Amino acid sequence: MPELPEVEALRESLVDRLVGDRVRRVVVRDHRLRRPIDRRALDGLVGATVRAVERRAKYLRIRMDGGRSLVVHLGMSGRLVSAPAGPPALHEHVTWTFASGRTLRYRDPRRFGLVYVVGDAAIDRHPDFASLGVEPLGRDFDAAYLRERAAGRRGPVKAFLMDQRVVVGVGNIYASEVLFRARVSPRRRVGTIGPERWGRIADATRAVLARAIDAGGTTIRDYVGGRGTTGRFQAELAVYGRGGEPCVVCGTPVRRTVMAGRATYACGRCQR
Ligand SMILES: [Zn+2]
Repeated sequence: MPELPEVEALRESLVDRLVGDRVRRVVVRDHRLRRPIDRRALDGLVGATVRAVERRAKYLRIRMDGGRSLVVHLGMSGRLVSAPAGPPALHEHVTWTFASGRTLRYRDPRRFGLVYVVGDAAIDRHPDFASLGVEPLGRDFDAAYLRERAAGRRGPVKAFLMDQRVVVGVGNIYASEVLFRARVSPRRRVGTIGPERWGRIADATRAVLARAIDAGGTTIRDYVGGRGTTGRFQAELAVYGRGGEPCVVCGTPVRRTVMAGRATYACGRCQR
């Protein structure tokens, strides 16, 4: 499943290819996604020019002139590729053809993704966007923010970090990596975390996600520009997927447990 770093890598790969180009034609071959594609809304963007390619959480936002944005969420298996003109791929839901002759293609075999148009003035109130937490690499994310949001809450810090209403983009793999780097146990209750630990958690979150973005993400990234390479962050995981192997810091075997149904990796000695 694409996570925030993969979507950011996709965004970066699309900026140069899309900005300034004008939509000449759109073909919706299959409207079935998590919510059905509104063909008329997509048709409404024909003639519009791409002004910017942005990202909010795991939503890609392609800003068009005329005050509208095309929003794409990759769901579990969605792929958005900028490619030369050519026949449609299997499971290709939408094909946009631009004035330059290039195409933008969305395909999604499992159909959990989203493709829709929203007015820029209404996007912050849209149900997909209204309750999103802060961006982990944004200005509002720091120890003070985490402390404030944790006030009065119970539950383990891993679940708190993965709560998208608090901070976006910390998926299951990154949560284990962040807490290892911060030397905080994933099971530690948020009410017992003081300013110093929150500082380490904030720093580690930024560092892990920034590094993952630089490396192009953790999972297969062949939806990026059709290049078919693998995100290099996979090779840098310190604890995730390394159950039983020695901790890279102290040599104690890494422990794999299950929290809220998700695999969780930690060093019982380094993380408290
Ligand atoms: Zn250790």
